[in-house]
Formats: sequence, C-alpha cells, structure tokens
Amino acid sequence: MDRQQEFVLRTLEERDIRFVRLWFTDVLGTLKSVSVAPAELEAAFEEGIGFDGSAIEGFARVYESDMIAMPDPTTFQVFPFEGGESGESARMFCDILLPDGSPSWADPRHVLRRGLARAADSGFTFYTHPEIEFFLFEDGPLDGRAPTPVDDGGYFDHTTHSVARDFRRQAVLALERIGISVEFSHHEVAAGQQEIDLRYADALTTADNVMTFRHVVKEVALSHGVRASFMPKPFTDQPGSGMHTHLSLFEGERNAFHDPAAEMKLSKVARSFIAGLLTHAREYAAVTNQWVNSYKRLFPQPLSDERITEAPAYVCWGHLNRSALVRVPAYGKPNSARVEIRSPDSACNPYLAFAVLLGAGLKGIESGYELPPGAEDDVWSLTSAERKAMGYAPLPENLSEAIDAMSHSELVPQILGEHVFEFFLRNKRAEWEAYRRQVTPYERQRYLGAL
Ligand code: GLU
Ligand code: MG
Ligand code: MG
Repeated sequence: MDRQQEFVLRTLEERDIRFVRLWFTDVLGTLKSVSVAPAELEAAFEEGIGFDGSAIEGFARVYESDMIAMPDPTTFQVFPFEGGESGESARMFCDILLPDGSPSWADPRHVLRRGLARAADSGFTFYTHPEIEFFLFEDGPLDGRAPTPVDDGGYFDHTTHSVARDFRRQAVLALERIGISVEFSHHEVAAGQQEIDLRYADALTTADNVMTFRHVVKEVALSHGVRASFMPKPFTDQPGSGMHTHLSLFEGERNAFHDPAAEMKLSKVARSFIAGLLTHAREYAAVTNQWVNSYKRLFPQPLSDERITEAPAYVCWGHLNRSALVRVPAYGKPNSARVEIRSPDSACNPYLAFAVLLGAGLKGIESGYELPPGAEDDVWSLTSAERKAMGYAPLPENLSEAIDAMSHSELVPQILGEHVFEFFLRNKRAEWEAYRRQVTPYERQRYLGAL
C-alpha cells in the first residue's frame, strides 16, 4: 500500500467516515457513483471494485462487460457539508480497468490521460481554467414547460437578499472547503444565470473539478430549495450557458505561450496551437457541444436591449474579441499567457472536451500550422459574403452537421480512440434522429393555419 492510500484509510478512521463514494464518468459526461464502506477500501485499492460495464453509457458491449473501478487516492476528498445524520462523507475518482488490469479505452478519464501523456512526450503540461455558466430555477419541470428563474438580475448585478447571492457564497465556500479554488463568481446576463470560474490547474484536475462542481452546485441549490441547470440554452430569447475555457501549455515552470519579443507576446507554439483549434473546430464541435440543444446557443442573436448573446458561431480568433471562437485575453505576468476557447458549453464531458482541445492544439504545433490573421471586427455583424471573403467558416449549425464533420475527421478518432469515437457517433446519430422526428409547438403555431 502506498502513502496516499494509507493517508486515505487513516483519515477515514480518524474522522469516523462511514461512506466513501467512488466516482467515475460515462462517455456522455454523466457522473456515476458507488458507495463503499471504509472496511472494503483496502481491498478496493488492491483489486478495484467490479461492475457491469454494459449498463454504463458507452462503456462496453455485453460480451466483454466486466469492468473494474480502481480508486485514485490522489483525488480523495472529504465532503464535510454532506452526509447529514450519517456524518461526513468522502469521495474518490476512479480509473476504469479491464479484467486484465489494462486501462479501459471507454473511460473518458483515460482518454484525457492519454492526451496528457502525448503532450508530456513533447515536453508540455496542459492547464485549463473553465468559466462555468448555469441557471438557477425555482422549479425543475420535466414536461417541457419553461422553468422560472430565481431572480431578474443581470450581468454583475449585486442583488441584495436574493437566493442567488446567498447561493453563490455558499457554493463557493463549499468548493473551497473541498480544495477547489474559485477565482470569480458573479451574476450573468440572463435572469437567474450565474457564473463561477475555477482557478487554473492541470487539465485532469480541472476536469475532475468540473464534475465535482456540477454535483456540489446542484446540492447547494437543492439546500436552498432551488434547482441548478447546466442546459446549454434553456430559453429562446436569453443567452445560453457556456463553459469558456482558458488553455495554456507549460514547459516545466515556463509558460510556452509567452514570448516577450513576439507580436501580442504570443509565442510560435501559441500561434500554432490556436491554428490547430481553428482548423479542427468543426470536427470536434460534437464533443465540446454534444447535445441537440447546444447548437441553439451557438447562434448569436440580438437581445431586447440591443446587445447580442455572446456565443461564437464562426471559426476565427481575435485579441480581446468576444465574437471570435478563440480569444487571446490581455495578461500581465508571463505565466498568465493563455487562449480562451468560447464554444464549449456547460453540459459537455470535460474529460473528452479537454482531450479534443489539447489534441487539436498539439496537432497544430506538430504540423507547424500557420495562424491566419486575427479578426478585429465583430464577426456577428458581418454579412455572410464578408465572412466568406475573410475565410471565417461557420461552426456546425446543428448536431447533424457536427456529427457529419466529426465522422470525416482523421484527428478526432486518434484522440478519442476508435471505441469512444464509434460509440459517440452512434449515440449522437440516435439523438439527432429522435429530435428530427418531433413536430414542435413552433411548427404547429406556424403551419396549422397556413395556406
Ligand atoms: N453566456 C455566453 C455564452 O454562452 C457568454 C457570456 C460571457 O461572455 O461570459 O457563451
Ligand atoms: Mg460569462
Ligand atoms: Mg469568458
């Protein structure tokens, strides 16, 4: 038994913790959990916990369904605010193994680990910093009716005595107590919409943190009698919830995106990385924006007060340009050099999303992609002819286009592995078919009386 494992067992005993949740994530990004008693844990560290992989979305075919969840003791965390009468609880993330002990190709955590190992072969560590937007609702209707936002606040509003403000304070405190540092939190543009930004860390840690974040935010919301939703676009006429993610590569202690002598202080590595993000943007969109609903967000439209919802729709980059897919923020210290990708939404699988972003960026570096000129205009207000002339391709307009672009990609199956790639396409095609056959209220309103 190693020291981390010993630390876990000792902590459980000292704090009298009676439940340890072992967490992992299916291919679509749903959190899975199995509770074990501390007494079982010593054996679990040795052999893992067996489960039926065929019951988990994307994990296995029935004839090879035995899988093992192997707890990763470095992710051990006590949840002091959960558990109620039964005392504190704790959780650990697991890696998923096949019966022979090799990593499962279906495990999203493994897909990201594999990408990080490739980056390490080139001397890079990959850091991410997600800004997570979501809504707080009074209710959670599941019959298709619109939910009711908890407030009518707007961007950066300081709403006194509102559920949202108390909620944010408690959510941030809860996250900090379990070792997830928060940089900012504020009210977002839409009524009931919130944003909490996690501090940057290596991508595996931030992906784990995003999964933990969603869980904690939902729990804290419930304790306030409200619901949190990470749906990308709940309302037609309000902004959706993005998960803008700041990305950087380090070589040892040094930020590889920073070059004091270069234009905008953007190193050659950074430029090729951005070029990779742009070149493959249509191919990986189905991963960063995986639902039918995701594409309703990637369609900027005017709001009633003459602003525009700020989600990207065209493949271009810009300095400080919020209409671009990739934005290069101004920064102070050399180690803060980074690029912000604005397409991912809050309902993505963070492991797979970070893996495809890293893979596309590395491809740009390895193949020496040239960065096209940056966009200075607000690309939403250009005409389509102007955009065409500038070479700004549209992002996929719907899930079907995204599936199509992904299915023709050479790069994405290399990043995801054939198993996840094939499963993902199959699953998403079925989702699109189910959506396509729906006759919606919109159509009845428009066509019932037509002609
Ligand atoms: N809610 C916007 C989106 O869907 C982003 C607003 C912002 O710039 O933070 O991407
Ligand atoms: Mg925001
Ligand atoms: Mg942002």
